[in-house]
Parts: sequence; C-alpha cells; structure tokens
Amino acid sequence: MNMAVTSEITLIGHWINGQAVAGTTGRTSDVYNPATGAVGARVALASPAAVDAAVAAAKAAFPAWSETPPLRRARILFKFKELLDQHHDRLAEIITREHGKVFSDAKGEVTRGIEVVEFATGIPNLLKTEFTDNIGGGIDNWNLRQPLGVVAGITPFNFPVMVPMWMFPVALAAGNTFVLKPSERDPSASLLLAQLLKEAGLPDGVFNVVQGDKVAVDALIAHPDVEALSFVGSTPIAEYIYAEGTRRGKRVQALGGAKNHLVVMPDADLDQVVDALVGAAYGSAGERCMAISVAVAVGDVADELVPRLAERARTLNIGSGLDAQVEMGPLVTQAHKAKVEGYIAAGIDEGAALIIDGRGCKVEGHEDGFFVGGTLFDHVSPDMTIYREEIFGPVLCVVRVKEFAEAVALINAHEFGNGVSCYTSDGAVARAFSRQIKVGMVGINVPIPVPMAWHSFGGWKRSLFGDHHAYGEEGIRFYTRYKSIMQRWSDSIAKGAEFTMPVAK
Ligand code: NAD
Repeated sequence: MNMAVTSEITLIGHWINGQAVAGTTGRTSDVYNPATGAVGARVALASPAAVDAAVAAAKAAFPAWSETPPLRRARILFKFKELLDQHHDRLAEIITREHGKVFSDAKGEVTRGIEVVEFATGIPNLLKTEFTDNIGGGIDNWNLRQPLGVVAGITPFNFPVMVPMWMFPVALAAGNTFVLKPSERDPSASLLLAQLLKEAGLPDGVFNVVQGDKVAVDALIAHPDVEALSFVGSTPIAEYIYAEGTRRGKRVQALGGAKNHLVVMPDADLDQVVDALVGAAYGSAGERCMAISVAVAVGDVADELVPRLAERARTLNIGSGLDAQVEMGPLVTQAHKAKVEGYIAAGIDEGAALIIDGRGCKVEGHEDGFFVGGTLFDHVSPDMTIYREEIFGPVLCVVRVKEFAEAVALINAHEFGNGVSCYTSDGAVARAFSRQIKVGMVGINVPIPVPMAWHSFGGWKRSLFGDHHAYGEEGIRFYTRYKSIMQRWSDSIAKGAEFTMPVAK
C-alpha cells in the first residue's frame, strides 16, 4: 500500500495511473483507530491538481479500455474476484482498524462487495441488446449500450469496501474508467483494492483513487472530463452533489441518509423480532444506512417487546472489533460519538422515555475508544428530533401506534425512504405493506433488506437523488449510454430525397 512514513505516522496517499502517489505535500487529515482513540495514520487531502492528474490518467486510459471486448474485461474481474477471496481477511482487518466495526461484520461487508464483482463478470451478457430485423424496407434497427467515459465515485465512511464496490466493478465492466474519492475517515482499503485490480491485469489509469475532502469532491464535480458522479453519503451532501453535477450536465446518482423503521405486528414471532431489532439497530454500532433505528410497535406489542429489547441492549458485548467475542464496536470518531450522545440528550429533553442509556460506556483496556452503548427509547413521538433525524449510532426508538394503517402512514410521512421492514405472520398484511409503503427496499420478516447484487440498491424520497439505483441492472443503465442504430444496405438508396416522416414500407 502507498504509505510513506513521515516521522512516526504513516501518510496514506493516492493511486493514480497504476501507481501509488505519496501526496506528501499539502493538507492532511487524521485517521483514527476508533477502538483505542489513537491516530493510526494521516491521509493526504487531494488538491485540485491531484484530481486533475487522476482524471487525466482515466481519460487517457478510456479509449483502449472501452474498446477492450467485454469478455476480456470480465476475465480481469474474475481474476480480481480470486484476489479478493485471497485477501478477504486482510481487507476486513483494515476496515475494522479504521472504521471500528467487528471483524465478522467487516468480512460480511467484503463478501457483499465481492458479489457485485460476480455480477459484473456477466458483462458480455448484460450488454446484450435488442435487434429488430427488417423494421423498414431493407432496414434493421438495434441498440447499443456504450460506456460514458471517466466516471467518479464518492463514498461514505461506513462501508469503505462495499460501497465503492457497488460502483466500480459495474462501471469498469461496462467499459468506463474510474476515479474513486473514498471517505477520508477510513481511506486505506481503497488502496488495497487498487493494488489488487492492478494485479488482476487492469491497465494503468483505468482505476484511480484520490483521497480527500470537499476540495477533491468539488474538483471532480467541476471537471469537464468527468461524465458521471456516483455518490453515497448523507442527504445534504447528496443533494448538493446532485444539484451541482446535473447543473453541469453530468449524470448523477446520489444516495443519501435514512431513518429505517421496522413494524412489529401483534401476530409477529417476538423471538425473531427481538433478534432482528437488536442486530439491525446495534450491529455496526448503528452506522449503517440500512440500520433499523425505529421500531413501530402496533397494538399492545410494545408492553412485551420493550423489556425484552432492554435486556438485550443492556447486555451487549461491546469492545474492540478485533475481539472475536465482541458484538458491537466503537463509533468512527470522537466527533461522531459526541453527536450521537447529543441526540440522546435531545431525546430526554423532548420527553421520550430513556430505557437504556448508552452514554458513558467504558471498555476496559480501551478507555479512550469512541464507544457508545446500546441505547433504547420508548414512547418516542414523530415530532421529536430523535425520530425525525438520522442519528447513525446505536440508538433504537420505539414508537407506539394503534393499528397497521397508522404504521404505514407514519412511515410514508417520513422524509427518508431507504429501507423498511415488517414482521408479521399474516400474508395479506405483508402484501399490503410491501405495496403501500413508500420506501425503496422492503423486508418482510427480514430486518435489513439490502438487495443482492443481481437486483439494485436504492431508496425513495430524500434517500436518493437521481433516476437510477446502484448496481444490478440499474447500475448497467447508469454507467452506459443508450444508442439506437438504423442501418440499410440496399440498392434502393438512390431513390431521391424523401420529405415525409420515414415510415415502414
Ligand atoms: P458524508 O456525507 O459526510 O460523506 C460522504 C462523502 O462525501 C465522503 O467521501 C466525504 O469526504 C464527502 N463530503 C463530506 N462533506 C462534503 C462536502 N461538504 N462537500 C463535498 N463532499 C463532502 O457521509 P458519511 O458520514 O461518510 O457517511 C454516513 C452517511 O452516509 C449517512 O447519512 C448514511 O445514511 C449515508 N449512507 C447512505 C447509504 C445509502 O445507500 N443510501 C449507504 C451508506 C451510507
């Protein structure tokens, strides 16, 4: 990996044109080990000049890469997939060290990324299009899906491997070249991915990484040679990138924040519900865009549900993500920990019933780690800040409603619409729920319905700006431009000019 040693701390740099670029001059940002609270490394923050260099490399690589037959592109992705399997644990360890999530969860993240590579290896088939023979006299008509050119991906801290891999395997398979701008909070995994792509045979310049912050993002948005932007992160930034990118005529898909509900019907299997809620609310310390942060308890079900959730929240095994026994690791930074604790204080102030308070959580041997314990609120109402806003921490809110229709109306009125779940044993309720709910990804007795790679990922409302969801068939559409070709090879061409709309003869 590109890590130059400056005094005692490593500096994480860029990857441009198939090579590590130190990025030793200019601004840097601290990268923490969230379990210890120590600065583990620094990351270079790209200047517009570094972004220019990456885009220039990607632009120069585009003609040859886009002309490479899809089958040969697929073979490189097959090799990349083999290398990802070999380096699975190493990638997961890098994630745990910089993000904090537990190692088994980090391994799961890598697996979900690998699945998109598996999907993208089907590119010769995925690029097949329709052909109509003899659509007019001597004329055939068919379609092409052609790559866009240089495309960029801007990704969040919470999935430093999986989210970039929602994007670049599909983009590269379709013949584009790529510039990735990972999160500055956990930048290292991107460089190992770049190295593995090179080892798999990817030509230099096809995949580039620029580390950085808003400066790098703004340079990518403004760059005339960047044809499309894929973004995943918080809603205000998603909206900004969508507005700024589309204003410049770029294609943009910008996935934003979330507030995901899980409806508990009175007929649901409560053992399953408790397991589902505990895993989905506290897994990865709630730092998932598909985390469940609201349990909507229908009828009287909360009376039994809340004590059972409280017991589990109180006894969560919290510690370093590298300890195999641990269920929940720390939050990503001290600043994020303070923000989550601020939300807990706001919940108390606004009158919610705090059942379990995760503040002040101390882990022996990791006293400076960024830990917040599992937190549970009951009697949360829709006007409260902890209900309206995305907390992105281990805080579960229980909202009590009288009936199913009230649960649906509540969820549909929320500004976010990323994921949702309903636990019930009634097929008719499940069917009505999945049809009526205004949310992009729906689980029925599934807490975190992240679609597999052969489907597509995306929310509704202010959880996604743009027309396309990520990966799957939607990804192919996003990363290709549609072209329709009509062709005639006949001796009837020389009939003279026609001034009427051409129609089939
Ligand atoms: P973030 O919006 O702070 O950062 C995302 C990316 O944008 C990073 O690469 C960051 O460097 C860049 N960025 C930050 N501020 C910027 C600015 N002012 N101008 C331009 N670029 C800027 O998000 P995060 O904290 O890294 O990630 C957590 C958020 O991501 C949560 O809101 C979560 O719901 C969301 N998320 C959404 C999905 C989804 O699929 N919808 C998936 C994962 C995460």
